Amino acid sequence: MIESSHLRAAIVAMATTVSAHAEELTALDSAIGDGDHGANMKRGFDAVAADIDTIGAKPLAEALKAVGTKLVMTVGGASGPLYGTLFLTLGKELAANPEAYVAAYRKAIDAVAARGKSEINQKTLLDVLYPVADALEAGRSKADVVEVARAAVAGTKDRKAIRGRASFLGDRSIGHVDPGARSSLLLIEAVAGVLP
Ligand code: ADP
Ligand code: MG
Repeated sequence: MIESSHLRAAIVAMATTVSAHAEELTALDSAIGDGDHGANMKRGFDAVAADIDTIGAKPLAEALKAVGTKLVMTVGGASGPLYGTLFLTLGKELAANPEAYVAAYRKAIDAVAARGKSEINQKTLLDVLYPVADALEAGRSKADVVEVARAAVAGTKDRKAIRGRASFLGDRSIGHVDPGARSSLLLIEAVAGVLP
């Protein structure tokens, strides 16, 4: 069972890793976007971490919704509404079906895809989030799931961007890792590090 205490630890871990990798995310976004992904993500997760006492006091589903709301308000860019939708939907689904974590994750990423009008293999964060859903549903180990996510990030490099700012570059987006895919991996690694 996942508890609010795990979420507290996950928030700290996510904020820490996003902060530590903000420059890397910015460099990736400078190559095929506008160079703000590191700052966007750091602003968002710093804001979530600053609110940790309020968020951590809530039941898990409500806490996840609060994280989503905070991210929508603070991250900005294209990624803010998308990551916000991910956490908001996770919370909404777990409120309806507590402990159906994998099903909630699948619904959450489908909501992200709907919000972004996007799908897998368009060189976005979905290129990581979807293979992770498949691995979770297949009952793969935590280490395997993280490995799947790492490989998925690397896989974005040779892909042409079809959604988001990078798509404006057309073929020139090929040869660069997608910043949102990279930040998704950071979050997945952080969560995997604190879950039982
Ligand atoms: P912006 O592109 O507005 O500057 P960010 O730099 O914070 O926003 O985020 C860029 C990332 O958001 C991309 O690397 C990509 O992974 C993701 N992204 C952008 N548009 C979409 C979309 N329509 N669907 C899914 N992901 C998207
Ligand atoms: Mg950007």
